[in-house]
Amino acid sequence: MRAKETRPVCIVGAGPVGMVCALALHRRDVPVIVVEAEPSPVKDQRAASTQPPTIEILAELGLLDRILERGLISTSFRYFDRITGAMVAEFDCGHLKDDTPYPYVLQHEQFKLVDTILGVLRGQPGFAVRFSTRYVGHAQSDSGVTVALETPGGIERIEASYLVGCDGGHSAVRRNAEIAFEGFTFPEKFIKIGTTFDFQSVGRDFVYRNYFSDPEEWCNLFKVRGDAPPGVWRCVFPCRVGESDEAALSPEGCEARLHKFFPGFSNFAIAYRSIYSVSQRVAATFRTGRVLVAGDAAHVNNPIGGLGMNGGIHDVASLAPRLAAVWHGTADDGELDAYTRQRRQAQHDFVQAQTIRNKRELEERDPEIRQRNLEQLKRTADNPATARQFLLHATLIQSLRTVAAVA
Ligand SMILES: Cc1cc2nc3c(=O)[nH]c(=O)nc-3n(C[C@H](O)[C@H](O)[C@H](O)COP(=O)(O)OP(=O)(O)OC[C@H]3O[C@@H](n4cnc5c(N)ncnc54)[C@H](O)[C@@H]3O)c2cc1C
Repeated sequence: MRAKETRPVCIVGAGPVGMVCALALHRRDVPVIVVEAEPSPVKDQRAASTQPPTIEILAELGLLDRILERGLISTSFRYFDRITGAMVAEFDCGHLKDDTPYPYVLQHEQFKLVDTILGVLRGQPGFAVRFSTRYVGHAQSDSGVTVALETPGGIERIEASYLVGCDGGHSAVRRNAEIAFEGFTFPEKFIKIGTTFDFQSVGRDFVYRNYFSDPEEWCNLFKVRGDAPPGVWRCVFPCRVGESDEAALSPEGCEARLHKFFPGFSNFAIAYRSIYSVSQRVAATFRTGRVLVAGDAAHVNNPIGGLGMNGGIHDVASLAPRLAAVWHGTADDGELDAYTRQRRQAQHDFVQAQTIRNKRELEERDPEIRQRNLEQLKRTADNPATARQFLLHATLIQSLRTVAAVA
């Protein structure tokens, strides 16, 4: 066992994972300093779907009322066959009523979570956040980590007890720690288009989360509350390989995609749009000495199923109590190896496996396999026992139960 630390933990990145990490450590009396390259909190419109075990984590951190107030409760999700237009399966999260106090998914944008946590922590002793401050390097010894930061006033060095890289998929912390990022990148990019056009108001049987199987162009359609009524529908589609970002993002390109999805309507009001490169990768380790990685810095996956941010928040829910115990000198730093073992397995066996399967099934081109998959989904959804099993995986409840046993 080491002596109690005195220096703060430095967290790189004020995204959802970095901020949950900051709050979870701060709640355990560990001083934290968060550094964020951008001048202010990023209004990131990527994640929204917050799965039941993540809601449990956020509730334990005292955030439940705040997130419910700014989110939308989604009690079920539906699969559609985009070729026939038929709804093929509906999964009712109510089947999880004995597995979680929150048998629903909360559609709550990730920037709102960041904003809420900043509101809770700002001004608290033991918490500091520095915007316009980019992590550029570190050197570690047995007793701490010297972190190099690029600030508006030049390069500055701070002394930290531990460094946690929550700096996203292109993580400089991971690269400087020389941790390999194993996996692959899909040839096609994904486009997300947010529109205030109200899909439900025109009589289609959409719920807040919908998946469309289509060998030519699958789609995910989700509702978020946005900043004001009537909210925003987010559509995620694959781009064609070779399609330029400019063409896909142009008003005509967006209109054409939405029009194909919803013929008979036009002039969709576009709230926002973005293109993403999509990869499936997991870091070779989540720890080297006093340097740790979590969230997208440790793993990335395609967004179908809404698991990336959730998995990242599960990382820091595992890391924070361990790191706090090590920081206070009440546990051996072997705890941090247990973190990397547990969370790498959760990634490999659950998040990666599930998201790769989700994409493969939505884009299946073989008509027979496709038909079989859709029929199987319907059978699974219609039987309460199999629906529950499916939902335990889809919400990552099973992932957390399984890896809890990993020593
Ligand atoms: C279209 C789409 C939809 C998605 N939907 C969902 C969903 O519904 N549910 C879900 O669970 N996941 C979803 N995801 C994935 C989710 O967005 C990510 O997993 C999540 O943002 C990861 O959070 P993070 O905090 O680890 O990293 P990020 O959100 O990327 O935050 C990293 C932060 O670090 C900062 N930073 C980077 N480098 C430095 C540096 N050198 N110094 C200082 N700061 C730095 C960045 O500015 C940023 O603020 C989606 C992804 C996409 C593309």
